[in-house]
Amino acid sequence: MNEIINKEYINHVLTKAQSNIDTNEIEDVIAKIELRKPLSDYDVAILLYAPEEYDKKVVELATAINDNLYGNKRYFYGVTYVSDFCISTCRYCGDNICSLREGHRSTLTPEQLQKDIQAILDGDPDIQEICMLSGDNPGITIDKWIKYIGAIFEIYNNELTLNVAPFNFQEFKKIREAYPNNKLQFRVFQETYDEDVYRREHPSYLEIKDKLTDSSWNYLKNNGIYYPYKIDFSYRMQTQERALLAGFDNYGFGVLFGLNDIGHKALFETLAVKKHGEYLYKKYGIWPKTISFPRIQPSKGVDAVVPGYVSDREMERIIAVCRIMFPYSNMVITSRETAEFRSRIRPFINIEDFAAKPGPGGNYLNDVTFQMELADNRSGEEIRDNFVEEGYIIK
Ligand code: SF4
Repeated sequence: MNEIINKEYINHVLTKAQSNIDTNEIEDVIAKIELRKPLSDYDVAILLYAPEEYDKKVVELATAINDNLYGNKRYFYGVTYVSDFCISTCRYCGDNICSLREGHRSTLTPEQLQKDIQAILDGDPDIQEICMLSGDNPGITIDKWIKYIGAIFEIYNNELTLNVAPFNFQEFKKIREAYPNNKLQFRVFQETYDEDVYRREHPSYLEIKDKLTDSSWNYLKNNGIYYPYKIDFSYRMQTQERALLAGFDNYGFGVLFGLNDIGHKALFETLAVKKHGEYLYKKYGIWPKTISFPRIQPSKGVDAVVPGYVSDREMERIIAVCRIMFPYSNMVITSRETAEFRSRIRPFINIEDFAAKPGPGGNYLNDVTFQMELADNRSGEEIRDNFVEEGYIIK
């Protein structure tokens, strides 16, 4: 059994709420939220399973908390992709190793990364957070990561979020020691908290041997790589702890909604997010700085099959419940979502990406291949204008 996520327990709580749902219990949970009392796991399960007629009420509760803490202020974060070279096998991602061909992927140099960051700063000089992403590229050693981070801090001084393949403790420490005074956050998505779904979506090389190109096999053989590191569910889930123990200031996490097609599906993931956040808070005294809600989008070369489709209505409920569970965490929404959906949930989230271009050099080059299709392709200026029209202030 996983130390943080007890699958049987979470399923039990959700099943109990689903089968016993009654109006009095729902009203009791609503009263607790209005009095700002903490919610039990069962309370959250009731809120998740409350019928459709409670949609408006749950959104109102989440909005009231958001208004109270953040008013009409929202802020943007910038996104930069260092490399789309990746040795992972994630079935849902077009950057996985199966599609590796000579000359097909790119990795920025520190100088190119600076240009990419400068393009973000040109669009929004006051941006408060930049998130650096990359595939699991073994060619980027820890010393190279330290150079990349240094290149960013030469031109940017606010919080830097690393959303790259998890480091071990010593690697985290090396980064922290190299930049002792800069604000560092490590964000990694568990993708799914269901270990069986995780295992299915992240197969070993042998399980998908027919899908690997000759280039893929040659790379793995020449570099002595026998298994995709991402296959290790527990190591990934312990990443935030390693980062905090090494002295990182903040951590973030998220789920890839649409992956889990078993049992309580996306609702299982939502209660698991509660358990993960509470575990880290109890142990380290820090709530997640950011919680993200990506939904699977079609990705180049990958069948656009979403195993556990999550509708807009369900997604709205899930995000609202997360806002209620984690009032002090930044709720992140990205250009994976349509402009309409972003507007719909803006009242109860507080951070959005600034026209992300999810491919290496995407912020300053044209014709970059993106990791996935985006539902919102507006420019940063258009997004900013839309915020202002809706009465928000950009911090
Ligand atoms: S999701 Fe990330 S780790 Fe998985 S294949 Fe894509 S880039 Fe690699």
